[in-house]
Amino acid sequence: MRRVVILGAGYAGLHAFSAMRSRLRLMLARKEVELIVVSRDPHHTYHGWTGEVLTGDLDVGSTLTPLAPILGESFVQGDVVAADLGGQTLTVRTEAGERQLAYDHLVIAAGSSDPFDRIGGLSEHGWCVKDTRDMQKLVAELENWNGAAPDPRNVVVVGGGLAGVETASALAARFGKNQGGKINVHLVSSSDKLLPTLRPDFNHIADTATRTLADQGVQLHRGAKVTQIMDDHVQLADGRTLSSDMAIVAAGMSFRTLPGTEALPRNAAGQIFADKSLRVSGRNNIWVAGDIAAVPHPVTGEPCPANALWAMKQGDCLGRNVARALKGQSLKRFNFKGLGQAAGLAGQRGITELWRLQFTGRLAWMIRILFFAWYMPSRRRALPILSQLTGHLWAATAGAAFQGKPIEAPAAEVTPVADLSQRLR
Ligand SMILES: Cc1cc2nc3c(=O)[nH]c(=O)nc-3n(C[C@H](O)[C@H](O)[C@H](O)COP(=O)(O)OP(=O)(O)OC[C@H]3O[C@@H](n4cnc5c(N)ncnc54)[C@H](O)[C@@H]3O)c2cc1C
Repeated sequence: MRRVVILGAGYAGLHAFSAMRSRLRLMLARKEVELIVVSRDPHHTYHGWTGEVLTGDLDVGSTLTPLAPILGESFVQGDVVAADLGGQTLTVRTEAGERQLAYDHLVIAAGSSDPFDRIGGLSEHGWCVKDTRDMQKLVAELENWNGAAPDPRNVVVVGGGLAGVETASALAARFGKNQGGKINVHLVSSSDKLLPTLRPDFNHIADTATRTLADQGVQLHRGAKVTQIMDDHVQLADGRTLSSDMAIVAAGMSFRTLPGTEALPRNAAGQIFADKSLRVSGRNNIWVAGDIAAVPHPVTGEPCPANALWAMKQGDCLGRNVARALKGQSLKRFNFKGLGQAAGLAGQRGITELWRLQFTGRLAWMIRILFFAWYMPSRRRALPILSQLTGHLWAATAGAAFQGKPIEAPAAEVTPVADLSQRLR
């Protein structure tokens, strides 16, 4: 029996798994092939709802999808701590101890981590939104602020991309001056204009988002780079400092090199080079997709954007190609050319680019939540989210408190994984 091991159950890993499972049904039934997915977390984290979690419209648990029901016996919860590419084996640390996991094909879909190596003081003094445990800590802290009106405070959001804009807008909506709060929200962006990935083609929606933040009272610091986070301030590269009671990093990615994989070809950022079929360049049985992959764009040849949509599409293509390789068929090229980009803004508004058309306001928000719900790994978890969010929209448009009882999403356990919480710092 041949075994395919997928490292990571994020967007890329889950899509690769499901594409393989649907194309290898017969071989799986005959036990000619086995699929294993290893993830350190017991759930998939959907980052698309970060703004809604920060405003308090959704709880953290509702953005998590438990993996066991999706993956069944294919799921191994554990931390991959080393690889032996010659011996085709991974070392996996599980709660029961360390085990060796042999593979015939290896799929690397390990994603990225926050830029702990590039922003000094981030692990000690900063706050992050990528890892579920970090998000839980942040939400708990914000809930404390809700209860006891905090003294005047400065929150610094680092990152002028979609995630940073969404984070700043959500915090301003919840605590900002326009809400009668005492919190100054600052947004620090290394580029001269916010949302550089939307420019110049989609200046209209990028400018709309910039104006919305300014209307919300967010103080924008453009062309500034945070180099160090301290207890009460952040240090900027040009020597200036900003007072900060909480610095949240929603920008930048780092890539950890798994011990034993040093020989794989990487770009300067640390992403592994994939060929057009999503195999690691020069390797027959190692595949890579998602944030950790430098995949050539089918039109420009430049690296594809690193976001959830591209990770899913790469996972789909990779999964189909592994299935083709196992059946002795020729591989297909990754041919996805993009769909759009979106960010949520305060008050059930947003900006959306879809098939190069630009949308703002409520329509943009509705397009965004429909697409995001569609792309959640489980419909069972997506429907309650849609219901809650449309409830908030109804409350906002009716100008009155939403009277209906929100439908609760089935609870997802967020267990701190004992001894597996070895962070990618
Ligand atoms: C705050 C925020 C908001 C975002 N909003 C959007 C958005 O609105 N739209 C969008 O398209 N994108 C968004 N993104 C980007 C998107 O989340 C990423 O591009 C996407 O997660 C990449 O998917 P992936 O499968 O490559 O990695 P991930 O989804 O990060 O999955 C990687 C998986 O690998 C596991 N893993 C890693 N190393 C190991 C190991 N050694 N052992 C075991 N398991 C391991 C991790 O636990 C994780 O499960 C956002 C990101 C953030 C941080």
